[in-house]
Amino acid sequence: MKNSLERIGLCEPYLQGKEWEYIKDCLDSGWVSSVGSYVDRFEASIAACVKSTHAVACVNGTSALHTALMVAGIEANDEVIIPALTFIAPASAVRYTGAYPVFMDVEKDFWQIDPLKLKDFLKTQCSYHNHKLINNRTKRQIKAIIPVHLLGHPCDMDAVMALAHEFGLTVIEDVAESIGAKYKNQNLGNIGHMGCFSFNGNKIITAGGGGMLVTNNAAYAKRARYLTTQAKDDEFEYIHHEIGFNYRLSNIQAALGVAQMEALPHYIDVKHRIQTTYEQGLAHIPGIQLPKQASWAQAFIWLYTVCIDQHRFGASNRELMEQLRNQGIQTRPLWRPLTQLKPFQQCDQYHVEVANQLYDQAISLPSSVSLTESQQQRVIEAIRKRHG
Ligand SMILES: *Cc1c(COP(=O)(O)O)cnc(C)c1O
Repeated sequence: MKNSLERIGLCEPYLQGKEWEYIKDCLDSGWVSSVGSYVDRFEASIAACVKSTHAVACVNGTSALHTALMVAGIEANDEVIIPALTFIAPASAVRYTGAYPVFMDVEKDFWQIDPLKLKDFLKTQCSYHNHKLINNRTKRQIKAIIPVHLLGHPCDMDAVMALAHEFGLTVIEDVAESIGAKYKNQNLGNIGHMGCFSFNGNKIITAGGGGMLVTNNAAYAKRARYLTTQAKDDEFEYIHHEIGFNYRLSNIQAALGVAQMEALPHYIDVKHRIQTTYEQGLAHIPGIQLPKQASWAQAFIWLYTVCIDQHRFGASNRELMEQLRNQGIQTRPLWRPLTQLKPFQQCDQYHVEVANQLYDQAISLPSSVSLTESQQQRVIEAIRKRHG
């Protein structure tokens, strides 16, 4: 009985590689702060993974996004397009610059930013003159777009890049949930002008906390490094020509990140196995819609997320969540669409419908790399029983 109530977490860190060894090395050598060989190694390993020419470590994913927006020249009262369905971080980062997010719906198949609605919005709701894209309703200039690759699945980047090119937008990919995934054999984060990663504890790999900005643009990388290190113009005399940020990652965190990066291919294999087991276990339960993968995606699951049709399944997603919680199984809904949140009530949005529907129906299931076969069977059984 006790065993059957063993807690099963949603997405927990897995620290079975060289984490101890590398962190001990930091402590033994005294290199614990924002300079050190592990910061360099972590940057190099992310750049190699993504095949970008530059990688700049940041203290977390949100600061990487904020930095990318500053590098892109986003200023107060500009606008930046982001999906309505995402963790709040990219929207917060937009607000840090004084700019405003414009919320775009996601499409119903893969739950990523909807390229058709995006195109519609740009062509019918905006004016583009002299390389300036103006939102007709708010009169603000739209300068960038943040496609967020949600849950380990890529956005339709060809469509996003074509529209960005046509309308002069800077593209900042948010890869916080999808490191290692690809779009038509291109590494996510390396398709747009910049890409931002997160190494928070619940992400695919963790540095305890951390972020990374990648780019192939040397000037962007230089500017990002400058802004994340207090905009120091003279190391010795402490001369600063503008206000920067203390956004550098510590060597200890980077040490953790280096060890985790060594394990990334293994984690992705495990994630595929978790996905296959869920697919087999949940396939024939009425009212459960399994996640789909686009033909152009080399995806994996960050969080395995299904949609519950309340009538056919016999319970809502929230009822199912409560049932599972009572059995020690941690799940969660997708994010409340940002258009429903108080800080964004003044922001523009375009036909946000699917995001609301997903919020009402989706449930993310335990997806930790440490999830055992028997734990996963327990989750599947609990869902089957709830249905029956
Ligand atoms: C986690 C996450 C972030 C933010 O990363 P932090 O490291 O927690 O600051 C940004 N965007 C998305 C989509 C995320 O899921």
